[in-house]
Amino acid sequence: MEKILIVDDSFLQAAQLKSMLDDDYDVTIAQTAADGLFYAGAGTFSLILANVMMQGMNGFTLLKKLQEETITQSIPVILVSSFSDMQDEQYGLTLGAVDYITKPFNPLILKARIQTHIRLYNYRKQAEYQSGTDQLTGIANRRQHDRCSILRWNEAARLQVPFSVCMFDIDYFKVFNDTFGHVAGDKVIAAVAGTVSSCLRRSTDFFGRYGGEEFVAFFLGDCAEKAAERLNEIRQAIEDLHIPHAPSVSEWITVSVGGVTVVPQAEHSYATFLKIADTMLYDAKKSGRNRVVWADEEMWRLDNFPEREI
Ligand code: GH3
Ligand code: MG
Ligand code: MG
Repeated sequence: MEKILIVDDSFLQAAQLKSMLDDDYDVTIAQTAADGLFYAGAGTFSLILANVMMQGMNGFTLLKKLQEETITQSIPVILVSSFSDMQDEQYGLTLGAVDYITKPFNPLILKARIQTHIRLYNYRKQAEYQSGTDQLTGIANRRQHDRCSILRWNEAARLQVPFSVCMFDIDYFKVFNDTFGHVAGDKVIAAVAGTVSSCLRRSTDFFGRYGGEEFVAFFLGDCAEKAAERLNEIRQAIEDLHIPHAPSVSEWITVSVGGVTVVPQAEHSYATFLKIADTMLYDAKKSGRNRVVWADEEMWRLDNFPEREI
């Protein structure tokens, strides 16, 4: 059942609305806008019905606040008002409410409108998910990486916590393809992606396919040693899959990883640190493959890695 949140400080009005929808939806009532924001933050509601006139924070402010948070910004909000006022209605719609309804409302029309908005919301969510997902592996793609990395980087900068980014690359993969064929190669890419995904499961971990047989991951909170240790466990987990490689190059399929950890400062940029991770990956390849090379602070001093777009 789809979940609907009613935000209304009039319990009577909220209960009346709820009784109209109870048969078809899982309805929750919040009696203040602040409670509404809190409940909505779980990200599980498919639609919010918010009263315009409320004590304290009103429906307009609630709508603005919902739109400021990534998790709630695309949930459709219908503003509900006890009386008709064209200016209020226009204002609500310009703020981004999907609809504005005035009492008294016909339950059947209300339900039809709600159904339409939830259907559109689900289409949009599905389209967003597909556009950010790699077809072969089911993990995030480059586009999703570009969207998420900046959000997560800014979060680490705001909280002043360590941010780690790393690049992975499958070792001697061209030889594997030449030996076993492209279809077998695709299966290896999917197996590697599946193994790394099952290791990076915290809510703030990101793992995606950067392109070809290269992957990117970033996560918050770990110091450089801990981050490198985590990645080394993942590297080992891939070797432990024991996928036979072309005997001329290696016994099993392995990956090389390059990474870096930083507490982001104003003079830093994500692009530079991704570039540093890529340089560390190059070092891992040069020094023998199937290993993790993590940059220490001395290595990545910005005079060695001047800020530039990549
Ligand atoms: P290195 O250890 O230095 O990374 O060697 P490598 O052979 O893996 O490196 P290189 O970048 O020269 O080759 C990458 C190969 O990955 C080229 C291509 O055959 C293969 N590849 C890239 N994308 C795909 C894909 O989507 N599917 C398959 N099957 N192979 C791919
Ligand atoms: Mg490569
Ligand atoms: Mg490779």
